[in-house]
Parts: sequence; structure tokens; C-alpha cells
Amino acid sequence: MHKHHRALGLAPRSTARIAAGLDIAKRKPVDPVTLVRPHAAARAARFFVEKFPGRSMYAVKANPSPDLLRVLWDNGITHYDTASIAEVRLVKSTLPDATCCFMHPVKSPEAIAEAYFDHGVRTFSLDSMDELAKIVDATEEATDLTLCVRMRVSSEYAQLSLGSKFGVGVEESRELLIATRQVADALGICFHVGSQTMSPDAYANAMERVRAAIVGAAVTVDVIDVGGGFPSVYPGMTPPPLERFFETIHRAFESLPVSYSAELWAEPGRALSAEYASVVVRVEHRRGAELFINDGAYGTLFDAAHIGWKYPVQLLRQPDSDARDMDFSFWGPTCDDIDHMKGPFPLPADTKAGDYFEIGMLGAYGQAMRTGFNGFGTGETVIAADEPMLSVYSDDRHVAAERTGNVVTL
Ligand SMILES: *Cc1c(COP(=O)(O)O)cnc(C)c1O
Repeated sequence: MHKHHRALGLAPRSTARIAAGLDIAKRKPVDPVTLVRPHAAARAARFFVEKFPGRSMYAVKANPSPDLLRVLWDNGITHYDTASIAEVRLVKSTLPDATCCFMHPVKSPEAIAEAYFDHGVRTFSLDSMDELAKIVDATEEATDLTLCVRMRVSSEYAQLSLGSKFGVGVEESRELLIATRQVADALGICFHVGSQTMSPDAYANAMERVRAAIVGAAVTVDVIDVGGGFPSVYPGMTPPPLERFFETIHRAFESLPVSYSAELWAEPGRALSAEYASVVVRVEHRRGAELFINDGAYGTLFDAAHIGWKYPVQLLRQPDSDARDMDFSFWGPTCDDIDHMKGPFPLPADTKAGDYFEIGMLGAYGQAMRTGFNGFGTGETVIAADEPMLSVYSDDRHVAAERTGNVVTL
């Protein structure tokens, strides 16, 4: 991949980009090292704050690192989508002035009560009459609630479906919207089009279902929450510009039959955190086209193992290898066959035991998934000032597209 880069005359930039990784490799760390890039998360936060035509709340599950939460807060993200009471506690202890919205449609009564009475949470989501009754009981019939009815929408444009577990269909939503309207101070409708959504059409289609639900129930709606799903960029997955998603959402929102003062919300997780972290790993052993490395399925590479996600990789060696790239698969450090990342991941053909390489774009659902299984999962975290391997926010998106070899043009 770096060969290709040189052909484009971009070698100097490329070398600058991997400065932090090379520095780490020189130290020959035994455990994987996480590189965090606060400047990249700050840029993402500012982009959403300035360009999304409504309120952006960060979906904490994508990466609950307190350092990241503080970066987002410092760059204008004031609201946080939390899905468990532990996430609520974490946000409130890290950012006491932040507003948490409890957007998991199935909660324990204890979690609802603690969120409401101890942490000032006023916004909750639900997708059933049972959950509505639970929220009313647990908050002792509070009259200051914003209640968002979660609708089921298609995940057809997403790489990762969130379409089956939660949400009501248009037909069933009528009764629930009417009942929720009666107890809510503000009524919202929310949905999630699935993670890493590659087309703005996903949001347009979901908004059509929202329209049908509003018309069917004939209720006044105060909040439209389009959820998460905003894409980042990975090899083979270069999305259209985020502005296109924002325009589509804005247009759809403007045409919905909602109250004049209705608010538009979004819950980006991946898009705000993906570029925040990468990991520097060491090759412990090579067997043909298989590299045994010191991070894996139980570490930051859960998605690479379980759903074949392809992350960008970059060898960290000086002087640089001039071998051609070849496709590798990875084995993680634990003792079982699940710890396998099939890739393919292109690295120079002379990659060998003792080499280090960087795996990029692990800020979302990477860093957050790490476990201590089998005695692995430790390692230091270092702040890096260089650019993430790929970016949906920098001006050279098209270079990123070249590198990943797949531009989705819509
Ligand atoms: C996971 C999740 C998000 C974040 O999704 P991304 O695809 O990471 O943007 C937002 N809202 C809800 C309800 C979620 O479950």
C-alpha cells in the first residue's frame, strides 16, 4: 500500500504520518501499544457540532475512554447517548455538566430510577408498552420526561445491522406513540439505521417510516432522533462525504409533520471515535501468509475476527521495506481458533517475526472491546500528534479512497 503511495508522490507525507508509530516500534514494546489522537477526535467533534443540522450526542459505547469524553466535551459535544447505568455514572463522573440520554429501549427499573433521581437523566427511549409503564413507575410518574419511541427501520445500507433487536414497526407504533404522548413532556421518535451506513438513502428511507408513524398516530412530535450509523472510512469502505448524509437528513426532517419547535438529534458513535485510536502490534511468528501477532479477537480486533472487518495496516520498519505487498491473515495471541482475523491485510512480502506494524481506525469498537482473556490485553497508551491512517474529515479523502481502492459513488 505504501508502494502505491510512493507512486503517487506522497512518500514524504506518508513518512510524516507514521512518525508516532515508528517511534514506538524503535522502543521494541513487548505488548501492543495504543496510539490515541485527541486532535482527530476534536476535529470530528467540531465537524458534527458545526455541520450537523441539529444536536449531536456521542454514543458512549463506541469508546467510553474518559480522555476521549473530555476531548469531545471540550469541542462542543454536550450530550451523551448512554445505554447502561454504568455508562451514565461514567459520563457524570467524568463530565459533571454533561447531559445523558438513556437510549436503550430495555432497561432495568433500578437503572431508570438511579438515572432519573441521582443523575438528572430526563430522556429515555422505549419500544413497548411494558417499558413505558416501567419508566413511569421507576420515575414515580415524573412529568418532565422526554420519551423517544424507537422505530424499527431497515439496516440494508449498513455493514452492521441493528435492525432486529429493537424497535416497533409503523403499525404497532400507533398505540405506543399515543400512550407515550399522554405521559411525556416531550415526545420523540428515534431509530438506528445500522452501523457504518454507506448511503444517505438509509436515513431518507427511515424518515419515511417516521412520517408514516406520525401520520398514523396523529400525535405532536417534539424530537426526531436519527440515531447513529454515520460512517468512517476503512479499506474497501469509503463512504460519500458526511455532508451528504447531513443534507439528506436535514431535507427529510424539514418535510416531516412535526411541531415548529421540533428538534433534530443524532447519536454518532463510530464517526466521532474511529480516528481516535490505532494500535502498534508485533509479529511474533510467521507461517507463510499467516502472521501471529500480539493483539487479536479478544483485544482490539473483535470486529476483524467476528465480522471480517478490514482495518488499514502499515509496516513500521526503518529503512522501509521495498518488497511488494502481499495479503496476510492474522492470528491473535490466545490459544483458540476464534482468535483469527482473515483480512486480507496487505503488508510487504518480507514482513517477519520481530516486525512492528500499525493497525489503524480502532477508536470505535476496537479499544472498547479489549478483554484480559488468556492473560493478554495489557499495554500502554501513548498520545500521537500525527494523522490517523485514514480520515473522513481531512481534505485528502480522495487519497484515502485511492489507498483503500474502493470508492463508493452514489
Ligand atoms: C450503537 C448505537 C449508536 C452508535 O452507533 P454508531 O454506528 O457507532 O454511530 C447510537 N445509538 C444507539 C441507540 C446505538 O445502539
